Amino acid sequence: MANEKIPYKIYLSEDELPKQWYNVRADMKKKPAPLLNPGTGKPVTPEELGRVFCDELVKQELDDTSAYIDIPEEIQSFYKMYRPAPLVRAYCLEKALGTPAKIYYKFEGNNTSGSHKLNSAIAQAYYAKKQGLKGVTTETGAGQWGTALSMACSYFDLDCRVYMVKVSYEQKPFRREVMRTYGASVTPSPSTTTEVGRKILAEFPDTNGSLGCAISEAVEAATSTEGYRYVLGSVLSQVLLHQTVIGLETKTAMDKYGIKPDIIIGCAGGGSNLGGLIAPFMGEKLRGEADYRFIAVEPASCPSLTRGVYAYDFCDTGKVCPLQKMYTLGSGFMPSPNHAGGLRYHGMSAILSELYDQGLMEAKSVEQTAVFDAAQKFARVEGILPAPESSHAIKAAIDEALKCKETGEEKTILFGLTGTGYFDMYAYAAFNDGKMSDYIPSDEEIAKSVAKLPKIG
Ligand SMILES: *Cc1c(COP(=O)(O)O)cnc(C)c1O
Repeated sequence: MANEKIPYKIYLSEDELPKQWYNVRADMKKKPAPLLNPGTGKPVTPEELGRVFCDELVKQELDDTSAYIDIPEEIQSFYKMYRPAPLVRAYCLEKALGTPAKIYYKFEGNNTSGSHKLNSAIAQAYYAKKQGLKGVTTETGAGQWGTALSMACSYFDLDCRVYMVKVSYEQKPFRREVMRTYGASVTPSPSTTTEVGRKILAEFPDTNGSLGCAISEAVEAATSTEGYRYVLGSVLSQVLLHQTVIGLETKTAMDKYGIKPDIIIGCAGGGSNLGGLIAPFMGEKLRGEADYRFIAVEPASCPSLTRGVYAYDFCDTGKVCPLQKMYTLGSGFMPSPNHAGGLRYHGMSAILSELYDQGLMEAKSVEQTAVFDAAQKFARVEGILPAPESSHAIKAAIDEALKCKETGEEKTILFGLTGTGYFDMYAYAAFNDGKMSDYIPSDEEIAKSVAKLPKIG
């Protein structure tokens, strides 16, 4: 079909929305390594995981053979409130760049949480409710996950306790109030309400907190409260599974118009949006049906794929979660305080880590001033004020489009625009005032953190 016929926005009808999630592990010949129990060093059992996570989610976490998993009707109905997410042809950006490349983005910011995180929050809350639980605990960094989970919990009438990284709690009071409006309780982390929080505070009294530390607190709160489980907004394979609605919708929409992306780009924090976006395309690549370039984009200040090591590590600073084999900077890695762009997690999804290790996916890191520069360019022509996280993908997409301008190639570029940046105005202010700086950790700093990895095998 000729380019002219492709609309600015490609929507799907309700009937075309996915009815199953796609589990890319089923098509991987070499699967991600199993989660290990840190005490025994052996693969975790469903019983052990069941103390922390909901039963149905444990099943999904450990299932690396079922290619498709039904999306329960109740979750499908909730999805219909804010999905399909539009797939947008970035005609205006293409024109501004003067590139022959065709750029598309899948916009996930069209709900109150302002990000893709609601796709998994609603699934996790549903399974918790179905199991008869009273409530769930979680951590949130920038606040999108906490907001998404608060929305999902209020929908299913579940109690929601959020541990929010202290620096975000202080810098983003409006995020906090959105969560409270949906009925969640929000505690700045590290806090004195948990043993691990008190321990971290004793050691680092001035800490701004970190995601890993907030995870530890949330896990402790869940495992020490009757009728509670812990839920996580990224990294885990179950979360990537739920996020495949992003990629499945995108694939259906592109197929309708006969569009085949050459390059698929996503920002990578814990890897859930990227994993969800690329899953159906990666499935084709794994089955030998088609080829694509996949690019994970991470911040230069927290470069787990590009400068980390592939090893077993803790998912949290408190060392209570199972060990996961992943690209990691070490669970004790503290991103620099000047880092504004989100994506500050020390590790990476086990699925994406394995795909990257097998050479099926590329990764690059970008510095934050360049990221905000790309965000501003994008906002000024496409209208949407992007989240700093999403802007890592924008930066990489613009770079690829400019390469096409040099070579004259008409490549098709697809990227995930994961959310909006309305709660990131301190970061935008720093950028607008010319006060934003870049921070790149030294090799010594990374080596020091990586040296503390748990010794396995
Ligand atoms: C949480 C978040 C991310 C990063 O998380 P992933 O699990 O890597 O997808 C990216 N963009 C936005 C807007 C987010 O809220």
